[in-house]
Amino acid sequence: MIRVLFAAGDSRWDDWKSPLRTAFAEAGLDCDLAQHHEPSQVDIIVYAPNVPLQDFRPYTNARAVLNIWAGVEGIVGNETLTQPLARMVDPGLTEGMVEYVCGHVLRHHLGIDTQITGQDGVWKPQVPPLARDRAVTILGLGELGGACATALVQLGFPVTGWSRSQKDIAGIRCLSGDDGLTKALKTAQILVCLLPLTPDTTDILGSAAFGHLPAGAVLINPGRGGLIVERDLMAALETGHIAHATLDTFRTEPLPQDHPFWSHPGVTVTPHIASETRPATAAPVIAENVRRAMADEPILHLVDREKGY
Ligand code: NDP
Repeated sequence: MIRVLFAAGDSRWDDWKSPLRTAFAEAGLDCDLAQHHEPSQVDIIVYAPNVPLQDFRPYTNARAVLNIWAGVEGIVGNETLTQPLARMVDPGLTEGMVEYVCGHVLRHHLGIDTQITGQDGVWKPQVPPLARDRAVTILGLGELGGACATALVQLGFPVTGWSRSQKDIAGIRCLSGDDGLTKALKTAQILVCLLPLTPDTTDILGSAAFGHLPAGAVLINPGRGGLIVERDLMAALETGHIAHATLDTFRTEPLPQDHPFWSHPGVTVTPHIASETRPATAAPVIAENVRRAMADEPILHLVDREKGY
């Protein structure tokens, strides 16, 4: 019997328990999934940040902590965590992010707002350029950024991507390093940020980075709020250097009611819904990692604690 502790929040238990039990059974795993187990007897911890479990020391036999989110900034620095940590990579999460990013890129590319808010009886055709003439840059070419980059190329956009290590992805201009970042920003008519939040990426998008963008660029940030220096973004919006920012993630969530982002005409706030981990698609990934951990095989999507993602 494998004792799996569900420590991903009481509010998620009802949605997750049945898909997880089904996935364990389909993987041939004899699991006792519960919200409470004697800590020393727990084999696997299914986890989400911002829950009561913050001290991992009593879980002396746990073989892995499986985060249900892609982002691990809320747990990776926990010094009591000595067990291997996996982040979430699952098909539904990737599909959701591709849909969000493509949808918001196309909104700005096609100028859809003009049609939605501008029905004033005046016939004034404004034809957008083709996608091939609208350069998109994606910061972060990982599971999500890479999939979004590929989808945008398929729609016809010239796509530049930037990552820590140099990549070679068909159809994408891949850059890395500080010079690469500057080059990537300089061509970014639409900038999509899908970096993880780490000490290296915190505040990466501030006045210096914004200064490299072409005038009138659009920013789309489903990455993390801490990647952006908010006052610098507000300043760039005020001058029009950044024409619009579509923001899904914020330094403080929920975004406080009196935050200026809510009322700024150049900002679209979406409430951290770019892509949600869906139990139906994520549970089989968790089951596979439970199987691996119990079989002493390398677990999938292991977090590099040094890099922070
Ligand atoms: P990955 O770890 O697969 O990819 C991260 C990418 O960022 C990699 O290409 C990595 O480079 C690059 N990167 C990391 N640090 C640096 C750096 N210092 N300089 C340059 N490039 C860097 O993550 P995912 O694609 O799965 O997820 C990305 C983020 O998306 C998550 O961390 C999370 O914050 C956010 N997210 C948001 C959601 C939402 O609903 N808003 C939902 C899910 C995720 P390399 O390839 O060389 O390692």
